[in-house]
Amino acid sequence: MASPHADVMDKLVSLCKRHGFIFQSSEIYGGTGSVWDYGPLGVELKRNIKDRWWHAMVRGRDDVEGLDAAILMHPRVWEASGHVAGFTDPLVDCKTCKGRFRADKLADARCPQKPSKRPGEWETCALTAPRQFNLMFKTFMGPVEESASMVYLRPETAQGIYVNFVNVQQSTRQKIPFGIAQIGKAFRNEITPGNFIFRTREFEQMEMQFFVEPGTDMTWFDQWKADRMAWHLALGLDPDRLRFHEHSKEELAHYARAAYDIEFDFGGSLGFQEVEGVHNRGDFDLTRHQEYSGKKLDYFDQPNNRRFVPFVIETSVGADRVTLAVLVNAYREEHVAGEAEGRTVLGLHPTLAPIKAGVFPLVKKDGMPEFATRLTAELRRTQPVFYDESGSIGRRYRRQDEVGTPFCVTVDGQTIADQTVTVRERDTLRQDRVAANALPAYLADRLAV
Ligand code: ATP
Repeated sequence: MASPHADVMDKLVSLCKRHGFIFQSSEIYGGTGSVWDYGPLGVELKRNIKDRWWHAMVRGRDDVEGLDAAILMHPRVWEASGHVAGFTDPLVDCKTCKGRFRADKLADARCPQKPSKRPGEWETCALTAPRQFNLMFKTFMGPVEESASMVYLRPETAQGIYVNFVNVQQSTRQKIPFGIAQIGKAFRNEITPGNFIFRTREFEQMEMQFFVEPGTDMTWFDQWKADRMAWHLALGLDPDRLRFHEHSKEELAHYARAAYDIEFDFGGSLGFQEVEGVHNRGDFDLTRHQEYSGKKLDYFDQPNNRRFVPFVIETSVGADRVTLAVLVNAYREEHVAGEAEGRTVLGLHPTLAPIKAGVFPLVKKDGMPEFATRLTAELRRTQPVFYDESGSIGRRYRRQDEVGTPFCVTVDGQTIADQTVTVRERDTLRQDRVAANALPAYLADRLAV
């Protein structure tokens, strides 16, 4: 079903390039397929999202520990996890147009020769039977390229958590229930990447595995489902653009006991798509790693004097996909009362905005640039702010609106006389007159979560 929200993807791609949020990787060489680089504003936005996650999942709680495991792992890890045998997508080729498609996503694909049709629907389409294609990238460790030295780039961060379960539990003396969380790169050789940073071959995941006593798993599952949805809402995503999707029996991975996706409505024909998965994985992962490594990965429950392999509730979210959701959600074009030209605004939540305030001298004389420069340095001690003295004040406002800056501070003639400045709020366009020395507190107050 088509989304009631407009498709803003093309406009967003162009805004992101123009303002330095996101560039195509290796652009001067013609670009690399579905790999993107984050520019000066993009790196701030994505970092703010990751910081919010790290705070919500690790620093703000006492029952989740942080971890930063390596990308390269022992190849047996991926046999134990099931990725060598089963991390595949069904691939079909079209002999006519040479297009490649995921057999399970044909409904979302378009025939390159006849875009109004799906692959297989246009009379000249000649699709092969599906064959399984493993999504893991391979490389070699050491100087010899032979099968014994082959390693994989991890396709998910979760396995780094499982193999460190005992290390983390024993070093922190955490008692079950507790979790381990990490943020890191993952790589998948996707057959049909696309939609900007929605599906890429190199991306970042924010994953948390919560270890619980068997029997308490569904209670924890429900708790994490609710907590994770609340996190997305707190980023400022519209409630009507978020929903849960429960995996049916057919959709459930073989190891999963229950799974829900949190979906966001990206607008246009893309519509609702997964941004996060919440899974009850039972004892599958720890049991498999016990089997393949020959090492015990169980937990000793001292009060009851018994050992058990914990069940795992997983929350897995893509940092890039959330960044895209945040950008899509924030993008708007609007008419401004009394002005012929409308404006484009990124209505980002203030805590996510890459720049918190623009500081402008009204004109480049009468001591205004000097005052504004001093004020910028003062504010920069606690917030990322941007000093701009070029062009008309209206153009400077518009530029900050387009990159989501929540406040603009203008130093004018009155400032020099009474040390007050104008603070203009991005969304309401309201202007407040504020004492310059009260500005750090004024901003801190409004930027608090
Ligand atoms: P999909 O069905 O979209 O391929 P998935 O079910 O394989 O996703 P998971 O393995 O559960 O995804 O990964 C967890 C999260 O990681 C996803 O919800 C998504 O946010 C992110 N993710 C997965 N693959 C990609 C990718 N190729 N590009 C960007 N983010 C991704």
